Amino acid sequence: MVTFENVQKKYPDGTLAVESMNLEVQKGELVVLIGPSGCGKTTSLKMINRLEESTGGKISINGEDIRSLNPVKLRRGIGYVIQERGLMPHQTVAENIATVPHLLGWKKDRIEKRVDELLEMAGLPKDKYKYRLPSQMSGGQQQRIGVLRALAADPDVVLMDEPFGALDPISRDSLQNELIDIHKKLQKTIIFVTHDINEAIKLADRIVLMRDGKIEQVGSPEELLENPANQFVKDFLGSEQ
Ligand code: ATP
Repeated sequence: MVTFENVQKKYPDGTLAVESMNLEVQKGELVVLIGPSGCGKTTSLKMINRLEESTGGKISINGEDIRSLNPVKLRRGIGYVIQERGLMPHQTVAENIATVPHLLGWKKDRIEKRVDELLEMAGLPKDKYKYRLPSQMSGGQQQRIGVLRALAADPDVVLMDEPFGALDPISRDSLQNELIDIHKKLQKTIIFVTHDINEAIKLADRIVLMRDGKIEQVGSPEELLENPANQFVKDFLGSEQ
């Protein structure tokens, strides 16, 4: 479980990116953070793996205040997928997927088995793809590898920041479906950032709609669509196509 209690982020230049944020993400839940550009989605995500430090309040994972954990160790326990340039260009697919298991000191055989298992799960035949470089893969395949890399060491929590944002609509749709399958299968806690309301509705157990660093409404897609808390929520959902 990931908990935000009164979390604040003020950047050194005085920008208040996140204000009084309270949120409980349950174990196994897929929560989507959404809202207009600049509302604080990425900042909220990066505070969880301490790529940004919060400046107020408390974030805990399974009851443990993340400030009490070593940031490097914390990050090894949290999967992280970003929109692009996430893979190491000079490493093979297998090496990229194995990044965290390798850092954790897994034995070679165990890493090999895990890589094969993940490639199989994503429908990428290992004989064909395992030793390719990212540049020899399509954009959609690279993002798929990014997702597998985030899952490789079986983290409790996976953070995804617009992971499919740069893809064409068909690849995007198929990766969304794969993510739904993976989530059903592995029951990971996933916090997913997007600005695409259709993507949020398709993927989310619950949607967190933000504006100007604050949460406007939290609920299932149906709850938000049926009972928008205010005009902003209504207008934002109205942008659904
Ligand atoms: P987008 O959808 O455009 O990616 P976002 O909702 O993810 O936006 P953030 O990137 O979290 O928003 O930014 C929130 C606010 O914090 C914005 O006003 C942004 O300009 C500001 N901000 C982000 N990073 C920094 C930084 N390093 N220094 C100062 N201000 C920043």
